[in-house]
Amino acid sequence: MTVFFCKGKLQLTCNKTLAMQNQYQAIESFAKQKDQEDPLRHFRSQFYFPQYQGKDTIYFCGNSLGLQSKNIEAAVLQELKDWKEQAIAGFIHAKNPWLYYQHYFRKPLSKIVGCLEHEVTVMNGLTVNLHLMLLSFYQPTKQKYKIMMEAGAFPSDQYAIETQVKMHGFEPADAIIEITPKEGEKIIHEADILAVIEKNKDSLALILFGGINYYSGQLFDIQRLTEAAHKTKAIAGFDLAHAVGNTELSLHDWDVDFAVWCSYKYLNGGPGAVGGVYVHERYAANIDQPRLAGWWGNEEATRFKMEKGFIAKPDASGWNISTAQVMNMVALKASLELFEQTSMQALREKSIDLSYYLEFLLNSLSNLDFEIITAAEPERRGAQLSLYFKKNGKEIHQKMTEAGIIVDFREPGVIRVAPAPLYNSFEDVYRFYEILKDFK
Ligand SMILES: *Cc1c(COP(=O)(O)O)cnc(C)c1O
Repeated sequence: MTVFFCKGKLQLTCNKTLAMQNQYQAIESFAKQKDQEDPLRHFRSQFYFPQYQGKDTIYFCGNSLGLQSKNIEAAVLQELKDWKEQAIAGFIHAKNPWLYYQHYFRKPLSKIVGCLEHEVTVMNGLTVNLHLMLLSFYQPTKQKYKIMMEAGAFPSDQYAIETQVKMHGFEPADAIIEITPKEGEKIIHEADILAVIEKNKDSLALILFGGINYYSGQLFDIQRLTEAAHKTKAIAGFDLAHAVGNTELSLHDWDVDFAVWCSYKYLNGGPGAVGGVYVHERYAANIDQPRLAGWWGNEEATRFKMEKGFIAKPDASGWNISTAQVMNMVALKASLELFEQTSMQALREKSIDLSYYLEFLLNSLSNLDFEIITAAEPERRGAQLSLYFKKNGKEIHQKMTEAGIIVDFREPGVIRVAPAPLYNSFEDVYRFYEILKDFK
């Protein structure tokens, strides 16, 4: 039996889904019926699916690289056309003037991450932005210098933290506190994190957690961790690579200090798309907050006077350094237009339903030895379920590929399945189950 912890905003969704789950059926017609009733079903046809043997694949890798939406090509061609026909004048006269390109992301992104429009900007890539944020917010002293993160964080985040700590003259083994699950468990309990925060209250400078861990799929209680960090006067930062466009976020109300994310996973911005940054307004508005500066973060009124003396813009874009990377932003701009046609609440509601259905089907399998290492409660996970196959993991992954299903495999036998509510269907989930059911 599954235990559900429902609270706050999730309560409604949770009760509703609980009821739905009782009615789930492991038959194709049921999945098709669910798709017919899905208010978001029209989005699917707005995406291209990779082809396999002349047919659309079933794509569950939106947690690694989201699909291309059909409006992107025209958007890219528009920028090429404006460059071709206007060259330098395009900065002012292009259809979307390049000078203000970052402005176009404020509204859609502020809704997706739950913040004020001037608290969000796009620039660089995720790991670069993490470094830039650490340079601004990790200001260790001899007493208060430790950084806390989850064990098994994405390697790039580990490298960033490790090298930042070294740059300040500290030893990673001493200065980095990694939180692991309890012996024999897969999930890290917030209560355990809180206890370690409390224990290190005098030495803790900053916490950096993934909103959702890329491997286990665990969603952390961002608000609770932020509150605990602030009690010790530590900074609360989050890497939202797997959370943005996936779960509902309220960064401003949760009082998060800073957050970074990439745009090529659930946001469908394309390979290596420009990264996103949130800075709480108490810092964003402070032009004296330390940072590495470049002319694009300078006040627009004086930027082209080419004078000495950096004056930061009093918002998150005060962290911009270089000229807007238009060609690396245009796909994201187009992709976010789709998000503008719905809400994170609607997407999340479908996502919870899809993941529950997937879980229901998986739990009905008796021919395979595997474990779902992602938590069962919706407030502890996003779209992704991570399945640990004690044996045959590779073989099963191979079978999937041959059946035209794209999922991700990680050693030592973890298949990560991420039904994305914008373009995945209940039938997709059913097809995945069918392959597993017939595996011998
Ligand atoms: C995907 C991902 C990255 C990748 O970083 P890039 O700088 O965009 O290459 C980093 N951290 C996490 C947690 C991720 O999920």
